[in-house]
Amino acid sequence: MSTATAQRLADAISSDTVSGRMWLYSNYHCNLACAYCLTESAPKVPARQLDGIRMVGLAQDAAQLGFTELGVTGGEPFLRSDLPDLLRELADHLPVTVLTNGTLFTRRLLERISPLAHLPVALQISLDRPDPDDNDLMRAPDNFRKVVDAIPRLVERGLEVRIATTLLEEDAGELARLCDLHRSLGVSDEHHVVRPVVRRGRAEIGNLGVLADYRSFEAELTVTVDGAFWSPFGPTVTNGVLDIDLLVSRVTRPLDQAVDRLLDLAEGRPSGDDNVLNIR
Ligand code: SF4
Repeated sequence: MSTATAQRLADAISSDTVSGRMWLYSNYHCNLACAYCLTESAPKVPARQLDGIRMVGLAQDAAQLGFTELGVTGGEPFLRSDLPDLLRELADHLPVTVLTNGTLFTRRLLERISPLAHLPVALQISLDRPDPDDNDLMRAPDNFRKVVDAIPRLVERGLEVRIATTLLEEDAGELARLCDLHRSLGVSDEHHVVRPVVRRGRAEIGNLGVLADYRSFEAELTVTVDGAFWSPFGPTVTNGVLDIDLLVSRVTRPLDQAVDRLLDLAEGRPSGDDNVLNIR
């Protein structure tokens, strides 16, 4: 790895010009097909899976360059049968947060992921509304029940669970009830994030959510099978076609070139333009 790139990255992370977290899109397919999905994920879309060995190599590169943590997203990462082992290998290099819809935690999968409780691995589960019917409207029938059933079983195994809430509109009373719910499930306030629906992917087709461009998002290097992007909100899919407006580099290994491109863009951005929607 280039020491010049590592030094640039260290300076950019310490000045909050870029995030210390690097994202990996493990796959694009999903057992759900949510109305606001950024990636138009569904059971039958192409998986576009990032090879496991490549993911671990990218994690190694990221650690050497000075990134501080990893995020794994999709699609639904737990559709990959190799994910529990992969998370363990990724955590050898950097702390990992994996995003999941929380609906696939069978007893067998719970057994496979239980050892992750001893590693720096957190699971971030989507839960949008405190009432089952409202929650399931944008996601899928029975989604609420499965998530609310899974969270305590993960927590009791010692796994770190976070909750991500994605909303079209914020309603203070409803949000208060949702917070009561996540606390009752064993997830503290510091592990709950709330963000708006972003109008990309399926949300764009449905005319849902807030308009956003690169200035709306923190610069967070995001690697997919197609290349490296500005943010995890970059490699979205609209009408079946990958959006490349936030593509930073087609080359992702070694990681230096993609990091340098991201830094060139982030350093050229007017101050105050970053992360204006507070979307994470
Ligand atoms: S929003 Fe998440 S859970 Fe819903 S379809 Fe997309 S990837 Fe799957």
